[in-house]
Amino acid sequence: MLTNEEKEVLEKAKADGVKFVSLQFTDVVGTIKNVTIPVWRLEEALKYGIWFDGSSIEGFARICESDMFLKPDPATYCLLPWEPEERRTARIICDVHRLDGQPFEGDPRFVLKRAMEAARRKGYIYNTGPEIEFFLFKMDSLPQVRPVPHDVGGYFDFSPRDLASEVREEIALALGQMGIEVEMGHHECAPGQHEIDFRYDNALTSADNCMTFKYTVKAVARKHNLYATFMPKPIFGVEGSGMHTHQSLFTLEGDNAFFDPEDRYGLSKLAYNFMAGQMEHARALAAIVAPTVNSYKRLTPGYEAPVYICWGQINRSALIRIPRCSPGRKDTARLELRCPDPSCNPYLAFAAMLWAGLDGIERALTPPSPVEQNAYEFDDLTRRKLNITTLPGTLEEALDELERDEVLKKALGEHIYRAFVRAKRAEWEEYRVQVTDWELRRYLEVL
Ligand code: GLU
Ligand code: MG
Repeated sequence: MLTNEEKEVLEKAKADGVKFVSLQFTDVVGTIKNVTIPVWRLEEALKYGIWFDGSSIEGFARICESDMFLKPDPATYCLLPWEPEERRTARIICDVHRLDGQPFEGDPRFVLKRAMEAARRKGYIYNTGPEIEFFLFKMDSLPQVRPVPHDVGGYFDFSPRDLASEVREEIALALGQMGIEVEMGHHECAPGQHEIDFRYDNALTSADNCMTFKYTVKAVARKHNLYATFMPKPIFGVEGSGMHTHQSLFTLEGDNAFFDPEDRYGLSKLAYNFMAGQMEHARALAAIVAPTVNSYKRLTPGYEAPVYICWGQINRSALIRIPRCSPGRKDTARLELRCPDPSCNPYLAFAAMLWAGLDGIERALTPPSPVEQNAYEFDDLTRRKLNITTLPGTLEEALDELERDEVLKKALGEHIYRAFVRAKRAEWEEYRVQVTDWELRRYLEVL
């Protein structure tokens, strides 16, 4: 039997003249996977799911259970605006199920759903609003693997130096057609670097939106003979790309449980507990929210990315920033976690962030005093006095921390934890043995 929502999807697909449906899901490292079916199979897909072989998906099946089903989530139906009419394609994001109909514990979307269910049982909905930064490079720079920024613009610059304002507007339009409400777009600090922010939502929808966002940006950029990259630090010596994430817990009635008008920062005790939990788990959390070798080239002093585990309001070097609430808008009380970058799998990142915060609530942790100075400028002694520790300096260090963090291991679940660590240790090992340009410049002649 089809639910009403599923019936509506069938009707919409008919009315929209859809020819193909792209069924999407995500692997452990956050790569989007896709199975395309002709529209006549949509009813079957909604009723029974679509069979696929999960054995070659990163972090998915053990050989003995490679048969899986994609179960489309009807709430995620939308048209892909760049496909021509004769091939009109809708996309639906799917949950992955095992043959016995149970959700597959290796599906990152399931991991986030489980975390959100834990929050719901405590009476909360977890909302997130990511600010995704990215670079646009000239397409013809691709073969040399040397990124050439497409412009020389800077922060908030407007044309003619910001050649991408047209591209950004086109991206915003495409996202709008796919049901994602863009709130702002601007040139970021570095040449060729941009940011587009979309409206916050519950963390599951936000994570779906992050995936949609990334391939939409890539698709629109390509039309302009540019390529978009979400690599955290593509160019040495200039800013990297972050995915700062604004977070709040709302009650099931829709009130912002992070808001307290009496508090100096407008935050409730619950918000402080949540923040303290994220600070306590920050070093292990890094492995999940900043999960590539390159992520740690971004988390260095001087580029508005966090390095030190502290919090504040005006301090952009802090790990967690408290943006000022718009007057009278209690829904805007929130915590901005600044260490995530867009190379993360947003489902796993939000799940881990939520469990870390919930642990802070459960243990009634309190954060240290705020730091309102630029933490990049403190010397080691000052930092030690203020008890400020640092984020891991490498992916390897972050993985070592993750292996010691029982809360985050539980957040990922046994299956994903193992697959994730296996993939990421291999990535680190592959990197570790490289002989880099830097080494050649530094040593070749002098040694
Ligand atoms: N690009 C910076 C980062 O890597 C952030 C700049 C900003 O504050 O928006 O986190
Ligand atoms: Mg920014």
